[in-house]
Amino acid sequence: AHLDRIGEVDGAVHAFLHVDAEGALAQAAAADRRRAAGKAASPLDGVPIAVKDVMTTAGLPTTCGSKILEGWVPPYDATVVARLRAAGLPILGKTNMDEFAMGSSTEHSAYGPTHNPWDLDRIPGGSGGGSAAAVAAFEAPLAIGTDTGGSIRQPGAVTGTVGVKPTYGGVSRYGLVALANSLDQAGPVTRTVLDAALLHEVIGGHDPRDSTSIDQPLPDLVAAARQGATGDLSGVRIGVVEELGGKGYQAGVLDRFRESVDLMVGAGAEVVEVSCPHFVHALATYYLILPAEASSNLAKFDAMRYGLRVVPEDIENPSAEDVMRATRDAGFGDEVKRRIILGTYALSSGYYDAYYGQAQKVRTLIARDFEAAFERADVLVSPTAPTTAFRLGEKLDDPLAMYLNDLATIPANLAGVPGISVPSGLADEDGLPTGLQVLAPATADERVYRVGAAVE
Ligand code: GLN
Repeated sequence: AHLDRIGEVDGAVHAFLHVDAEGALAQAAAADRRRAAGKAASPLDGVPIAVKDVMTTAGLPTTCGSKILEGWVPPYDATVVARLRAAGLPILGKTNMDEFAMGSSTEHSAYGPTHNPWDLDRIPGGSGGGSAAAVAAFEAPLAIGTDTGGSIRQPGAVTGTVGVKPTYGGVSRYGLVALANSLDQAGPVTRTVLDAALLHEVIGGHDPRDSTSIDQPLPDLVAAARQGATGDLSGVRIGVVEELGGKGYQAGVLDRFRESVDLMVGAGAEVVEVSCPHFVHALATYYLILPAEASSNLAKFDAMRYGLRVVPEDIENPSAEDVMRATRDAGFGDEVKRRIILGTYALSSGYYDAYYGQAQKVRTLIARDFEAAFERADVLVSPTAPTTAFRLGEKLDDPLAMYLNDLATIPANLAGVPGISVPSGLADEDGLPTGLQVLAPATADERVYRVGAAVE
């Protein structure tokens, strides 16, 4: 049914870069046999899933939305993918994304944008717009995204889906093509909070192949989602973050946010105002740390090891460096080049202390803001994104305007704390989805599931 649906709508939505109908049907048939024998591999055995094209999949192309990886087929599965297979989830295919996960609209994909199923002239968020659109358009019931600065949560908000960024280290990064190692985290994209909890339990937990993986059992996320679904939040202290709301936020987004807070109060929660004064510097901090890490990660695309190789025709006996230059020039898009230049600048000697070093210090202050806020509140809440889905092309020529869409999601990545975005209703002015973000302390992911399930 999902493959049929993809056939019907994906020409217009363009959520997928690659569909593996044959593989998915074979995996589904195997799941049917297990279920018939009463031997389901997991609660999600046989439930199909779409995977963001930044996760390696053995035998299936993995492009990261970039021309530089066109035609590359990885020889191994990411741990997340291996766990999906072991749990019996048929993989429908790979979803579209901004090139190397840099962007908030999926317009930076080298393979053309994904369209928001709510309004095809609008963006589905990014960088994981393909995963969110696939779930919103009923092309897949579940998807995997990755969130470095909001790429699961912001697409969730603007497509009316649920997106979870787990605690940093809670889901293995082995086989996730790194954008920024200290910020990246894979997580669920679903239609309900309970689905997200079920999926999180499949993909999460310790992995010795990721040195930053947390070596302790996951909390009981499914139980937390079920508890939240009873609609009782008594005893829960909700912190409304003063700095995440107000200026720069669309009126209809703020209206729906206030209603969500009222809903939590009605469910018995106690609401406190909290201030996180350094959050105003989060965007600037992120856009130094991320390009620095990304420029280093992208150095491996040297025309020798992976995918594309362009040999310049205007040079006689081109050197390895000539080939590398021509390949990177043709293979990377503008946004990727912009960030490589920013990152190498921030890391260069003489500027390192002024930019990268300074950003790391501010990052610590942001983490301390979280610690102080979590003394007073069990979870923090805000709108997920400042606006509803904007029009395709609207911010493409203005990188800063694009970056501003991540205002509310970035602090969580800088501090490594978990967050969820749940649908919080349609904005009055345009009838488009808005999202409520719930953040919790590191390793307390169960809290975002409880509160998320109570208000979805
Ligand atoms: N939009 C943000 C960026 O461009 C976040 C990306 C992400 O989370 N992968 O960096």
